[in-house]
Amino acid sequence: MRYTEETLIPQLEEFLKNIPLTPRINASTELAKIAVEYVVQNYNTFPVFTALPPSDDEFPHYTYGNPKRKFGQSEIIEVLKTVCLAYFHLTGNKLWIGDMQLEHGGRIGTHVSHKLGLDADIDVIEVGDVPNINRPLAINTAQIFLQSGATLVFYADHNVVNTVNEWALENEIKGHLSHEPDHTKHFHLRVG
Ligand SMILES: [Zn+2]
Repeated sequence: MRYTEETLIPQLEEFLKNIPLTPRINASTELAKIAVEYVVQNYNTFPVFTALPPSDDEFPHYTYGNPKRKFGQSEIIEVLKTVCLAYFHLTGNKLWIGDMQLEHGGRIGTHVSHKLGLDADIDVIEVGDVPNINRPLAINTAQIFLQSGATLVFYADHNVVNTVNEWALENEIKGHLSHEPDHTKHFHLRVG
């Protein structure tokens, strides 16, 4: 916050002194000022998500991607912990946690979800990439996700999606998989 008021705004004003103020630049400047004003006025209402804890015996995992995107609500962090421990017990390997959410929410990259702090991308290296996957392991892993409390899991392999959904129905397990063609290299988990 202080950064915005003491650094960002003066820098913007200084920058504007040194460029030609064409109508287009003026219009963009107005938009930038509205955005800064919005942040200043609403900063206190932005969510504060919890940081993903570091890996340890209780929560064995690796991470990949931007560390600024490793925040979430306590529900997703609890589910991730259960998932990672179960996978580690099953295989002796650790899951890789990718994008979750920014500390204060908001849109990240091209993701249409990952907005509420209830999503996480998980790469299961040992499964490989669709279509050349270790399907039995993909099925076992997806079952762990649902058993641990994930309510929705995106994945690109029809066979895994259908098999695990049938199993969940038979065993009265809440949560299901949804076929998502983009999710060939990782699973996407949601809770809540
Ligand atoms: Zn995702």
